[in-house]
Amino acid sequence: MQTKPRIAFIGLGIMGLPMAWHLLKAGFPLTVYNRTASRASDLVRAGARQAATPAEAAPGADFVISIVTDGPDVEQVLLGPDGAVHGAQHGAVFIDMSTISPETARNLADRLSLHQIEFLDAPVSGGDVGARNATLTIMAGGKQDVFERARPVFEVLGKRLTHVGPAGAGQVVKACNQVVTAVNLLAVCEALTLAEKNGIDQQTMIHVLAGGASQSWSLENMGPRIAKGDFTPGFMVKLLQKDLNIVLSLARRHGLALPGATLVQRFLEDNVAHGEATEGSQALYKALKRAAE
Ligand code: NAP
Repeated sequence: MQTKPRIAFIGLGIMGLPMAWHLLKAGFPLTVYNRTASRASDLVRAGARQAATPAEAAPGADFVISIVTDGPDVEQVLLGPDGAVHGAQHGAVFIDMSTISPETARNLADRLSLHQIEFLDAPVSGGDVGARNATLTIMAGGKQDVFERARPVFEVLGKRLTHVGPAGAGQVVKACNQVVTAVNLLAVCEALTLAEKNGIDQQTMIHVLAGGASQSWSLENMGPRIAKGDFTPGFMVKLLQKDLNIVLSLARRHGLALPGATLVQRFLEDNVAHGEATEGSQALYKALKRAAE
């Protein structure tokens, strides 16, 4: 009987925790590491092994998956003093699923190759809902054959799995995704404001629009949360702000102006100034309303 590849999983946040659960339930031998160790308790009770550092999680792993906050955090868990690279076997594949800059992803690929470690940047889209339902969209940069080796792992986590190009390309596509997500979220917030001011029930408005040409993920997933006044995070304001920093610096490097993304970034600054950095990105609605009043 062929045994499943061994996985070391680093980062059990809003996204990582449900993803790790899917891998464990699918029968992959799983070792987990999370900076706040207590978040791993339920997984350990269900059969995962817990490591005290990323370096202790990596030995024997065929795949080391990371999903942490930003580029410096990925560098720390993979290449820092206790980083996974120090425990990994030659030929292991590191898959970073965080959203970071394409430049950092390319740099990680180069540095890991010096240790005979393959690297895929494989950011995800689909939000907390996609992570819980294993319906994430995964866009990967790196070598095609390495992507094919990782496909059985991706199949447990998501639905649309695409190799989009060489190292860093996954993060470029993710940056494109964040432009659409951010500008669309602003459009949803504007429509909700307009409905409310005109005495239209927001849930009714969402129901109608979801059946027509303005249907979107933000409308169907963020719209109802906003209408209920639910600003708990599936995806935090500060993370969308991080992503738009990546987007806008990439655009600047190519002499591009992205006025929609720039506008959303301004509203997010207002969110942060009002203490809403750790609320869900749907709190954009609050910043928009403040600007309108
Ligand atoms: P989150 O809930 O804040 O989780 C972040 C995770 O990273 C936590 O496990 C945290 O550990 C860990 N971490 C952060 N910095 C670290 C460091 N320096 N060393 C070790 N561990 C560190 O965030 P999330 O929503 O899961 O997002 C994770 C990544 O996925 C981000 O890059 C985000 O942009 C991306 N993403 C998120 C969504 C979404 O809808 N949430 C969708 C697509 C992509 P602690 O538990 O100790 O804090």
